[in-house]
Amino acid sequence: MSTTVDVLVIGGGGSGMCAAISAATSGSSTLILEKQPKVGGSTGLSVGSFTAANTAYQYRAGVNDSIDYFIEDMKVANGDFESRENQSLRRILAENAGPTLEWLSSIGVAFLGPTPEPPYEKPRMHNVLPNSTAYVSALSKECAKRGVTIRTSMRVDALLRNAAGEIIGARANGQEFFGKRGVVLATGDYSSSNDLKAEFVGEDAARVPAVNTGNTGDGILLGATAGGTMLQMDRLYEGLRFAPSKRPDLIKSLPYHPIMAKAVRWAVEVLPKSLISVIIRGALTSWIGPNNTMYQSGAILISQVGERVANEDSDKTMARAVAADPDSTGFMIFDEMVARKFSAWPNPVSTFPGVAYAYVEDYKKFRPDVYHKADTLDELAEAIGVEPATLKRTVKAWNEASESGVDADFDRKKFGAPISRGPFYALGPMNSYITLADGGLAVNDELQVTMADGVGIPGLWAAGSTGQGGLQLLNHGLHIGWAMVSGRIVGRKVAAAGARNDLAPVGDVTAW
Ligand SMILES: Cc1cc2nc3c(=O)[nH]c(=O)nc-3n(C[C@H](O)[C@H](O)[C@H](O)COP(=O)(O)OP(=O)(O)OC[C@H]3O[C@@H](n4cnc5c(N)ncnc54)[C@H](O)[C@@H]3O)c2cc1C
Repeated sequence: MSTTVDVLVIGGGGSGMCAAISAATSGSSTLILEKQPKVGGSTGLSVGSFTAANTAYQYRAGVNDSIDYFIEDMKVANGDFESRENQSLRRILAENAGPTLEWLSSIGVAFLGPTPEPPYEKPRMHNVLPNSTAYVSALSKECAKRGVTIRTSMRVDALLRNAAGEIIGARANGQEFFGKRGVVLATGDYSSSNDLKAEFVGEDAARVPAVNTGNTGDGILLGATAGGTMLQMDRLYEGLRFAPSKRPDLIKSLPYHPIMAKAVRWAVEVLPKSLISVIIRGALTSWIGPNNTMYQSGAILISQVGERVANEDSDKTMARAVAADPDSTGFMIFDEMVARKFSAWPNPVSTFPGVAYAYVEDYKKFRPDVYHKADTLDELAEAIGVEPATLKRTVKAWNEASESGVDADFDRKKFGAPISRGPFYALGPMNSYITLADGGLAVNDELQVTMADGVGIPGLWAAGSTGQGGLQLLNHGLHIGWAMVSGRIVGRKVAAAGARNDLAPVGDVTAW
């Protein structure tokens, strides 16, 4: 049995739901096929920051922003990657992020902000309240209101083509689904595809697990097999994060309701900062790793065996080394000098820019399971289950390297001070994760998937990470921004495309 709608959306994360709502609001019958038992994807797992210019939040805060300022700031954040930027899509993002955030506000999503996000000159980061499940709840409700059908536990494994070569539908669980006006790929990124990571980045990156294990790059593979072009597949956002806290995460566990979002916003703005920071610092120490400035000040990264494992100058190198380690575990080791430095502004251990900063003592309070302090290295080693003699040997070798300015083991360049003055500290265990992957399909300004010659594939469109199109998105809050912006645009575009009469599949496009 087959199902036919005007617009068929594959993937029910932020971009897919925005696409479906936008298509439905344009008068199209719309269906989302989602492979997981629930919608949400990375959008619902994220921190939820949304960077946008010209918002009412900015206006109320007295920030006079513009699209051009936003673009100029994105250029600065890109640095050497500016030469790769898709400038046309960047303008689309910059122009539409503000109106999209306002639209989200109109369907009940509340934000805290704007907060600063260096190197941007203007505060533009808007943090969703109380957490990113607010996006999922508000978008799901809006889908229901607009008549969008959502079918979960439906993994699309093929696209369908008609005799003219147009993409007319998709297959999931052996059933055929047709989109008369078009098919939208909105299946997120490939951070959990070992094959794609190994092919485009390397075996060491492929070992680093993804936060979202559902991100297997399905839409990117299907789109590429249909003739599309993969862009920027070499960039993964890899890093070390603390093992999840066993304590309940207050921020993550807050249920979403528009009234709850408003109450949290009121609380954040009105209640004493000290009270609010208790909640926010608890969350901060739960899902973030330490800033790499601690290594630059003298900390080192060791394995469960007690030896250094990587050049601590690079987050990526550390993440890959820890992932390759038999225990997949790392600890940051430092002394009293570093602990003192990271006990007050401007040196937080972990950061949620503009909202909260967590210092060494906050880890003692909120994450006693990853905070270890001892008068001697022997005692510290005992506390973290490392052989004391190995830890002492590692610290001695590191101190000699630090004093000589030559790290013969890993060629680290930023030494900081030696680890010499007790008490001594360890933060960990930490594990490696890939938060997101920045590759995606090439799309034109209509968000149609394009072939190598730039020509659009008839009937096939992409949004969110799947249709990232070479965008750099090198600052916080731009990925969610692109997911929502591109979803809303693509839904409108597909709804306006001509309906095809020939919905008879003559072949399918499979990628695995
Ligand atoms: C821990 C974490 C924190 C983050 N924090 C931020 C942040 O604060 N700000 C920010 O801008 N970005 C952040 N990001 C990145 C951001 O969340 C994502 O880039 C964005 O949400 C992607 O949206 P999307 O719609 O493209 O994909 P997703 O939201 O991942 O949705 C894709 C959907 O497609 C489904 N799907 C996949 N394959 C198939 C298939 N074959 N058939 C049917 N369905 C399929 C998936 O199950 C999923 O539901 C974070 C990411 C993570 C993991």
